[in-house]
Amino acid sequence: MQTVGKLMKVFVTRRIPQEGMKILTTAGVCEVSLWDSDEPVPRADLLKGVQGAHGILCLLSDKIDAEVLDAAGPNLKVISTLSVGFDHLALDEIKKRGIRVGYTPDVLTDATAELTVALLLATARRLPEGVEEVKNGGWSSWKPLWLCGYGLSGSTVGVIGLGRIGMAIAQRLMPFGVKRLLYSGRTAKANAAEVNGEFVSLDTLVSESDFIVVSCSLTPETQGLCDKAFFCKMKNTAVFVNSSRGAVVNQEDLYEALTSGQIAAAGLDVTTPEPLPTNHPLLTLKNCVVLPHIGSATYSTRGVMGALSAQNLLGGLQGTDMPSELTF
Ligand code: NDP
Repeated sequence: MQTVGKLMKVFVTRRIPQEGMKILTTAGVCEVSLWDSDEPVPRADLLKGVQGAHGILCLLSDKIDAEVLDAAGPNLKVISTLSVGFDHLALDEIKKRGIRVGYTPDVLTDATAELTVALLLATARRLPEGVEEVKNGGWSSWKPLWLCGYGLSGSTVGVIGLGRIGMAIAQRLMPFGVKRLLYSGRTAKANAAEVNGEFVSLDTLVSESDFIVVSCSLTPETQGLCDKAFFCKMKNTAVFVNSSRGAVVNQEDLYEALTSGQIAAAGLDVTTPEPLPTNHPLLTLKNCVVLPHIGSATYSTRGVMGALSAQNLLGGLQGTDMPSELTF
C-alpha cells in the first residue's frame, strides 16, 4: 500500500493474535514496534518502548498511568486495550491529555459467560476434587454421601453487575432450572425481564442467594466489595464465583469464610495478584477452584479481540471512528 507522509509510531506491548497484527502491518499508516514475547513487558522496557509513540496497543496487565503517558510524550493520540476491562488505565490522566481509548466489549461476552458457568458448575459440583480422587486412588466405590455438592435446579442465583457479561451468564444459567434470579448494581436494567431478574439491594442478594456471581467492573466503589461483612451474610451452603477482577474480593476474608465453613465454596477466574503465587493459602483449599484468568480464552474470541483492538488503534491514529471507543 502506498503511504503518504510519515508513518506513525505504534508500540504493541505483547505478541497479539495474528488477526490483529495483520491489520496493523498492512494498513500502511503505522510503523509497529512489538514487545515480541508472550510474557509482560518489563516496566522499564514499556517506558522506553512508548517513547514518541502515536499509539499504544496494550493488555490488562500493563498499567498505563501518568508515568507511561509522560514517557510517550505529546504525540500520543490513542490507547487501545485488548480487553473490555479498563481499570488498568488512568482515565483521568488520559482524558487530561485528550487521548482516545479503544477497548473490546461484546466480542468476549459469550466466551466469558460460558467460562463463568463452567467455573460455577466445577466449583459447585466439585469437579477438580473428583478428577483428583480418580487419579489418586481415593475412588473406592460409589458412596451415597461422597463428593456431594450443590445443584442449580430450584436455586436462587445472585448476579452482582448485570451488564453485558452478567446478563449472558444469567441467560445461560436460567435453563438449569434456576427459581429466582436476583441482581444488584447501580441501576435497574430494562433487559432484566428476559431472565426474570429482580433488582434488589446488595444485602438482599448476598443473604438470599445460593450462588453469587460477580460480574461487575472494578471501580473505586466495587474494590473490596466482597469482604468479611459480605461473606458473613452469605448462606453457609452458598457458592461464590468471581470472573470480574480480583480486587473486588478481599482474599484474606474469603480464605477465612472458606475455612470457617461460613460459605461452601468459591470459584475464581481472577485474583490479586495475577498470577497468584503457588504458595498462596487459597490454593491449599479443596473448596476453592482457581483458574488463570481465562474468561475470554477461546481461539476465535481472542482473534476477534485482536482484530478489534487493531481497528480501534487505526481509527484513533487517523482521527476517524473507532469501532469500540470508550466514552469517559
Ligand atoms: P459492563 O460495563 O457491561 O458491565 C459492568 C457491570 O458492572 C454493569 O452492569 C454495572 O452496573 C456494574 N457495576 C458497576 N458498578 C457497580 C457496583 N458498584 N455494584 C454492582 N455493580 C456495578 O461490562 P462487561 O459485562 O462487558 O464486563 C464486566 C467486567 O468483566 C469487566 O469490567 C472486566 O473486569 C470483567 N471481565 C473479565 C473477563 C475474564 O476473563 N474473567 C473477561 C472480560 C471481562 P450499572 O450499569 O448499574 O452501573
